[in-house]
Amino acid sequence: MEFDAANRSQLRQLMTENGLRPNKRLGQNFLCDKNAADAIVRAAGDLTGRRVLEIGPGAGALTVRLCKKASHVYALELDAGLYAMLQNHVEAQNLTLIHGDALKADLASLDLGEHAAVVANLPYYATTAILLRLLHELPTVDTFVLMMQKEVAQRLCAPPGGRDYGSLSVAVQYYSQTQTVLQVPPPCFFPAPDVDSTVVRLTRRPYPIQPADEAWMFTLVRASFAMRRKTILNNLSAIPGLDKPAIMQALGQCGIAPGVRGETLCIEQFIALSDATGPLVKGSHKSQ
Ligand code: SAM
Repeated sequence: MEFDAANRSQLRQLMTENGLRPNKRLGQNFLCDKNAADAIVRAAGDLTGRRVLEIGPGAGALTVRLCKKASHVYALELDAGLYAMLQNHVEAQNLTLIHGDALKADLASLDLGEHAAVVANLPYYATTAILLRLLHELPTVDTFVLMMQKEVAQRLCAPPGGRDYGSLSVAVQYYSQTQTVLQVPPPCFFPAPDVDSTVVRLTRRPYPIQPADEAWMFTLVRASFAMRRKTILNNLSAIPGLDKPAIMQALGQCGIAPGVRGETLCIEQFIALSDATGPLVKGSHKSQ
């Protein structure tokens, strides 16, 4: 019988044989549900001829499945014990295992080629930091299938106007279209996490509209959500170098009422506002 890390008893036996125990600090909740593992890989679409990056392969539940579908899999694992275990246990010719930290590794140097995918059951303590790195630094990846804590998934997929919509929603939706794929309850993991999990698919946007200055747009987005109960006018007034008359002028130009809150603005409105305010900023504050 072929080893499958998504099989709970096989996973536990392998970990015991290797003297390993799940490390809570590294977000090690291993997926022990074959149907969920199959569904995650399926959600990446047809992987024939495509290269895949997996963050945190753990005991290999997704890794082995990905190797059967993709032309090549890069799997980046921080835990030295798991990395060594995978090296001894997974024999796929098309797998490159890397011992490293997804928060620090030189991701751009990986030879992922065009039309690549990232598939991962992310460590929950670092989900947003890893996700933003992936979106920013891997432009040839057009599909991301990622498991994360349910509440983070809700923020990524939130439309404007609701409680979950914030600067993370705007940042992620600027790069991609988001879609919920699957809910995965705690008993599907070993050990069971304290939170519910959701698989999200992100499809990179071909950039129909882009701001003149991306960094400035993100400064503006962060400021717009700084105090959620404040109006857009008051929140933006806190940006050094941007005074109220200038903001009023830019808001008018974009057809945005000064009394609305940041959470009502969609990505296209943030882009328009960024382009309207950018030339009005006094001094060198724009680069902050
Ligand atoms: N993919 C496996 C699965 O689905 O069962 C394991 C998923 S577990 C939620 C997260 C994995 O990420 C663990 O293997 C953990 O050691 C690894 N990890 C934690 N922090 C990491 C980091 N900064 N860089 C790379 N891997 C990390």
